[in-house]
Amino acid sequence: MRLSAYFLPTLKENPADAQIVSHRLMLRSGMVRQCGSGIYTWLPAGLRVLKKIENIIREEQAAAGALEVLMPTVQTAELWKESGRYDDYGAEMLRFKDRHDREMLYGPTNEEMITDIFRKNVGSYRQLPLNLYQIQWKFRDEIRPRFGVMRGREFLMKDGYSFDISKEAAELTYKKNALAYLKTFARMGLTAIPTRADTGPIGGDLSHEFLILAETGESAVYFDSCFTETDFSNFNVNYTDKAEIDRIFTQFTNIFAVTDEKYNEAEFFSAVPAERRIQGRGVEVGHIFYFGTKYSSALGAVVTLKDGETIPAEMGSYGIGVSRLVGAILEAHHDEQGAIWPASVAPFHVNLLNLRQGAPEIDALCEQLYERFRNAGVDILYDDSDERAGAKFNRADLSGFPFQAAIGPKSAEKKLVEVKDRKTGRVQELSLDETVNYVRHAILS
Ligand code: ATP
Ligand code: MG
Repeated sequence: MRLSAYFLPTLKENPADAQIVSHRLMLRSGMVRQCGSGIYTWLPAGLRVLKKIENIIREEQAAAGALEVLMPTVQTAELWKESGRYDDYGAEMLRFKDRHDREMLYGPTNEEMITDIFRKNVGSYRQLPLNLYQIQWKFRDEIRPRFGVMRGREFLMKDGYSFDISKEAAELTYKKNALAYLKTFARMGLTAIPTRADTGPIGGDLSHEFLILAETGESAVYFDSCFTETDFSNFNVNYTDKAEIDRIFTQFTNIFAVTDEKYNEAEFFSAVPAERRIQGRGVEVGHIFYFGTKYSSALGAVVTLKDGETIPAEMGSYGIGVSRLVGAILEAHHDEQGAIWPASVAPFHVNLLNLRQGAPEIDALCEQLYERFRNAGVDILYDDSDERAGAKFNRADLSGFPFQAAIGPKSAEKKLVEVKDRKTGRVQELSLDETVNYVRHAILS
């Protein structure tokens, strides 16, 4: 992509209304624009990150055996009256009427709707386990939308729902989802700590929140430092091996906790050696629940077992804050100059900077490098504007793609490229071929 043909409205100054670094960077680097309280338009660069996050989620969901569906954003009130949540949900639910005066709502979550699909289309134990998920916009009329996309009113969520024939089977499904989440977040460059959570109004008896560390996080988190030393991004779970799933789940979920009424600091830390006790603040990026038959009983979503007995399905739900993750990743990956995107979710892998646009030899070298990167399947943004070198470097640092490849008069003489690693700041002079190989290798590993 050429910058001259792209839409990247960057801002030089910090917007006054942005309180946290991720919100500032998303506005400044041209990723989103606010349209109303807690409602955002995703501009091309921001949308690229959102799509890359979605795809990592899709790959890990598929590996864990979940199937993607897409439910509507607009729902009718009836199902919610059946489950009893229409009144319970309160002011967070956006309600309206259609032209026939029917009560409608913009979905804040989809347990009722998926349970309705299930009861109408599944009847036998042979069809289970079933784990369906979607990546769809939600609306919650949050009392205090803030921190940009971190707490919006309209936000993108991955929401999954599982159906099983027994509590034991449902717990296994729950554990598979927990492991899939560890890997999903790790692939985005995040350490998401699974903390035992209160099941709250959704009910049920098993629940974990996945928190990433950030000073502006809304929850206190106490954890064992061994967690941050573990890299889940390359860990391959065999989802057909129950013993392995049990083992890994126990290892990584039973030793962490947040503070709430149930788990206090002292109680939690008593099991952790003093030198490994860490306390911080966390942002919730995922939340999983096992809630048994709460919705299946209310809505009559039953399965017939092998022996002919009919029981309500055992259910769980599994959420990821997809749009919140964009902010969360930036909270974890930035410096004074701007974003430092992990390659797996970066809007582009490399920023090609022509330091003297219009000088024929330099333009020619840049064009060659641009072509080679494109042929190698590297996502490249070519800054072909006629701005000063300093302005280009500043914008590149702000945008924070993993690599910058600059060609100016000095390097062009030697037919070399100045390649900068945005994270380490290390600069190397490489030939065109070496540049492409180096970047390609780095973004794949
Ligand atoms: P929170 O405690 O942050 O309000 P929640 O517990 O109400 O979140 P869930 O119902 O568990 O949220 O939704 C699943 C995921 O959706 C959350 O883990 C979070 O990452 C994301 N999410 C929830 N509310 C918002 C919001 N207002 N804006 C952006 N993401 C959100
Ligand atoms: Mg939650």
